[in-house]
Amino acid sequence: MSPSEPLRVLFIASEADPFIKVGGLADVAGWLPPAIHHLSRLAPVGQALDVSDRFREIDIRLAIPLHGAISRQDFDLQPAAQFTVPHKEGPVPAEVFTCRHQGVPVYLIGGPLLPANEPVYTNDNSVDGKKYTFFSLATLALARALNWQPHLLHANDWHTAPAIYALSLNRQNDPFYSRTATLLTIHNLPYLGAGAELALAGFGLPPAVDSSLPWWAQDLPLPLGLLAADHIVAVSPTYAQEILTPEFGSGLYDFLRSRAASISGILNGIDLERWNPATDPYLTANFSLANLADRRLNKVALQQEFGLPQDLSIPLLAMITRFDNQKGVDLALECLRQLASGAQVPQEPWQAILLGTGIPSLEENARRLEASFPERVRAVIRFDPALSRRLYGGSDALLLPSRYEPCGLAQMIGMRYGSVPIARATGGLRDTIIDDNHQGAATGFLFTEPTPEALAACILRALAVFRNRSRWEILQTNGMQQDFSWTRPAKQYIALYKKLVASRQSASAP
Ligand code: ADP
Repeated sequence: MSPSEPLRVLFIASEADPFIKVGGLADVAGWLPPAIHHLSRLAPVGQALDVSDRFREIDIRLAIPLHGAISRQDFDLQPAAQFTVPHKEGPVPAEVFTCRHQGVPVYLIGGPLLPANEPVYTNDNSVDGKKYTFFSLATLALARALNWQPHLLHANDWHTAPAIYALSLNRQNDPFYSRTATLLTIHNLPYLGAGAELALAGFGLPPAVDSSLPWWAQDLPLPLGLLAADHIVAVSPTYAQEILTPEFGSGLYDFLRSRAASISGILNGIDLERWNPATDPYLTANFSLANLADRRLNKVALQQEFGLPQDLSIPLLAMITRFDNQKGVDLALECLRQLASGAQVPQEPWQAILLGTGIPSLEENARRLEASFPERVRAVIRFDPALSRRLYGGSDALLLPSRYEPCGLAQMIGMRYGSVPIARATGGLRDTIIDDNHQGAATGFLFTEPTPEALAACILRALAVFRNRSRWEILQTNGMQQDFSWTRPAKQYIALYKKLVASRQSASAP
């Protein structure tokens, strides 16, 4: 390998913005590879990057499934390759198209297992298992078909974990992949891929019997990837620690502890162009640190839009989230009910706008809360990105009482838009928010126990600070000055890629 050779990284994921987006994984897959690509081109050898740099540039390429909902016309897709993936019932054809996104070559892999009308996730893992095991194996076949030998394979979550497992099974007898390092990023551990067992077997991937995995996990995609990967990244340093505990470890904490030396945490970023209060066209008034006072126009506009008393001195709380138990929506609803009904003393003025969709009983409870306290609460049960932006840019505080939060984007967006987070001290929330106790550097408020009472106490603590306008503005400006760009994680991933490739290359040197 020559010193000027680029470091080739194959980044694989089930979804990527702007091609297709269901959840936060799409943001990572759509924006991290371009950030890595640009950073590695900007940084001359030995400067911003590692001094032991052996590669001039990172040649990172992204592969995602060609889901039915992806419009071929929108992305000028060109044919790139055709091949088949072996299956016990006969070979499955794959057809690959390519284009560029922000300078990064993207491969979209289609075929009969990706029918036009099927959603990205069907909620039936026997279906998704077949689709994503096919996709995972097709990514390995694709690199071979292109004769583009990756130094590193970077997979994400259970959907693409089978690629890492398959690579590890064949490494000994496969010169093409014998020196390829592997990295698996966990975005949400509880989604192990249960239901995909038969799909793995159908594509010739056997259970890992006699491995360090617990018996019940030996044929599940994510655990098999975690077993086989050279390194594991969780999407925040705190989540990387939490998954080693019974509370957050999804039954795998003993196994994960045995791999602790190979687990690290890297926080995600947000796209600072797309999330910019100075230019966001959905805001009534754009603002930045230079004219923070204009932000109040957004608050008044929200109070007016939702028929709430128009009074700047009343703190406006917002919640923007999937209505799911993970997000602690039940805790927030019960807490607000207690605060509004006077079960908590002292009685405080506040208003709350809750935006989200999800579990029907939570949606119903949110509507009931609004019906009980129409002078304070609005429940907006829909997915509405424009309203989410108006809430980030106009609310005083953002409620984030998650039971667990691998990384979380909402708190980073909220801080960038001057909405002060009131959050549970877990996962990425803990890593991105500095509690008010830390005075000068503080950006928000954290609480520990996942109870309505603990959240209520934290809200009351925040409301007390809110009455002191200059103190509140310090929290806001501190939050707006945080660096949540993709550059930071891109640097960390580049350093990790180099380390993993160096150690894999020396391990497999003849
Ligand atoms: P997760 O990916 O676990 O749902 P994150 O905080 O990482 O949580 O990201 C959620 C993203 O989805 C945020 O950008 C948030 O603004 C957005 N979002 C969630 N619910 C809604 C909604 N009802 N309308 C608009 N945007 C929403």
